[in-house]
Amino acid sequence: MCFAHGIIPLALRTSLHSFLASIIKFESHNKGLTLSYLVKEIFYSIQGEGFYSGRPAIFCRFSGCNLWSGKEADREKAVCRFCDTDFVGCDRLEGGLFKTKKELAQKIEKLWPDKNIKSDRPLVVCTGGEPLLQLDAGLVSVLHENGFEVAVETNGTILPPPGIDWICVSPKAGAQLLLSSGQELKLVFPQSGAEPEKYAMLDFQHFFLQPMDSPDREINTRLALEYVLSHPQWRLSLQTHKILGIK
Ligand code: SF4
Repeated sequence: MCFAHGIIPLALRTSLHSFLASIIKFESHNKGLTLSYLVKEIFYSIQGEGFYSGRPAIFCRFSGCNLWSGKEADREKAVCRFCDTDFVGCDRLEGGLFKTKKELAQKIEKLWPDKNIKSDRPLVVCTGGEPLLQLDAGLVSVLHENGFEVAVETNGTILPPPGIDWICVSPKAGAQLLLSSGQELKLVFPQSGAEPEKYAMLDFQHFFLQPMDSPDREINTRLALEYVLSHPQWRLSLQTHKILGIK
């Protein structure tokens, strides 16, 4: 990963140890070495946001992120400060340390409710944290063999392995965007330094603005709505799982 002007952001320095560990793991995966996967949780729900909103999917939340340690004490120093997700450790629903791709893929497959895998087009959404710290071509391939479409939700700072069916990039202000193409760009709005105009010309099929979930959510929703209405290239993405009170 490169950093603008050669300066390592403070948040990364504070979590350097875990960040480097993740990078080593990521590099090793790409070289085909067998390593384990640390997964916070795996669950079945509907996709609440963006293009596939409403579509049933298995969510595989990988542990760790390169833009925040996940600790509240580090939030103010982090590159990404508005995160609403717990991605630390592996202690939630079906989470754990999976020693092989097969073991993880089997766990994902077991959670799909209907065993008629061929007609269902089952979907697994690899999310995080930052899933591209761990997701590798071999795992994508095993998931395909098990009949799954593979989607990823990434902050765009790491290039993905080949074979992913649906790439959704959510750029973060202050983080260098390396991944500038995919199926879906979903921008949390507003973010000072990550204005929609910066991304509107990138090579994505769909562009979504998603109001930032914060104490200002109502204002953010109104601002996002106004922006979308005056820039129809963009569509409004609401976090419908939160509205419904589901996971
Ligand atoms: S990049 Fe995503 S997972 Fe990482 S801290 Fe930001 S919102 Fe959370």
